[in-house]
Amino acid sequence: MEIQKSNFSEWYNAVIKEAELCDIRYDLKGFVVFRPWSVMSMNKMFEMYEKELQARGHLPALFPALIPASYLMKESEHVEGFVPEVFWVTAAGNNQLEEKCAMRPTSETAMYSMFALWIHGLKDLPLKIYQRCQVWRYETKATKPFIRSREFYWIEAHDAFATKEEAERQVREDMDMAEKVLHQQFCVPFLFFKRPQWDKFAGAVDTFGADTLMPDRRALQLPSTHLLGQNFAKAFNIKYMDENEKEQYVWQTCYGPAISRIYAAVIAVHGDEKGLVLPFDIAPIQIVIVPIVKKGVEEKVMKKCKDLEEQLSKKYSVKLDDSDNTPGFKYNYWELKGVPIRIEIGIRDIENDSVILFRRDTKEKITVSLDKLEEKIEELREGIRKNLKERADRWFNSQTTKADSVEELGNKLEEYGFVRVPFCTDRLDGKACAEVIKERTHANIRGSLYEEKEKPKGKKCIACGKPATVYLYAARQY
Ligand SMILES: [Zn+2]
Repeated sequence: MEIQKSNFSEWYNAVIKEAELCDIRYDLKGFVVFRPWSVMSMNKMFEMYEKELQARGHLPALFPALIPASYLMKESEHVEGFVPEVFWVTAAGNNQLEEKCAMRPTSETAMYSMFALWIHGLKDLPLKIYQRCQVWRYETKATKPFIRSREFYWIEAHDAFATKEEAERQVREDMDMAEKVLHQQFCVPFLFFKRPQWDKFAGAVDTFGADTLMPDRRALQLPSTHLLGQNFAKAFNIKYMDENEKEQYVWQTCYGPAISRIYAAVIAVHGDEKGLVLPFDIAPIQIVIVPIVKKGVEEKVMKKCKDLEEQLSKKYSVKLDDSDNTPGFKYNYWELKGVPIRIEIGIRDIENDSVILFRRDTKEKITVSLDKLEEKIEELREGIRKNLKERADRWFNSQTTKADSVEELGNKLEEYGFVRVPFCTDRLDGKACAEVIKERTHANIRGSLYEEKEKPKGKKCIACGKPATVYLYAARQY
């Protein structure tokens, strides 16, 4: 393909089709088929995330996909937030169910019903459980493959602690995990925002969401972590006996990295006019070998290619493309698929004991002698990661600015992704002002920057003109 990324929507639709990432022809609105090339990457991404969760004391579990209505209804804010999005199962075979069941939109109510049975004393805490699963939400906003659909694939981690401090520490740890996996390994930059009270997770005390920017400068929420306080503990009666033999409610957090959506960010942030560009560690095929054959030397070249395939397969995912297509066709095909390294071998290279390496991210060709090949591949693996991260960071870091009025905000949004504005409050009272902003600029208030300490001095809320108490960030969003 050859489409400039500046026309992002067209580019995105073309790349997911041409690179065979999904098929949108499944005849059910908001549901798409994820094809092997995307699933193989997402499986690697799941594994990398799970490794970090386990290293921090989380254990895997699998909960039923159906949640009895009575579970879902226990926490009142949660009910209000999620019920409009639930797919219900009301019948089985020819029988109406006595109690209808929700296809899980998220698993708080499923898990916490069991947490209440599992947690008795301090010895049972902290409890840190996660599952890798799909969830279903009846989205009414426009759907777009990987970005927003009615079924998506994620990890949800649910933790219970004896104290508020431990729960707060967990929120911090969830953010660190996002940094380690999403930014350092998938090379996708983001900012963590504390969401305003009108935009928090239904049932949470506070929600912290990591927003990245797509190439059209619209924000996309990646993992979010929620401080649940004791809201669910009280609704589900999750208690433990403390040192003084007194019953206490637990403090809870939950964390939801949506892998299918994070994959959308990987596609969008790294891809170029030729198609996908994948970080080495999540590419389904990391190295493709392309033989350059001429009449009379086919056998010699193919033998060398096969030997190399065998040697490199011990460490990497390798594919020898021995199809009848021309080398040029193969180059385009595997570049479109985002394979990070291509090895080209012709008879001249064999005579020189060398090969040509092509790296997808910079489109450079390098000649490497065979005895240095594995060393060079290791160097490229790290070099590609570093380059993708730096390239993404450079653009992302240039996308934040400030404004002091609604007009200025509207103008700045034409050139920037995040715009910081003085605001009256991020408590519920501020919602009306956020609606004014939305109406006039089509931007949403994403919240306050988690790490920002600066408070507005002598500034006025850009929407209502009352004294500003907080800096909030506005962005157009997916
Ligand atoms: Zn205001």
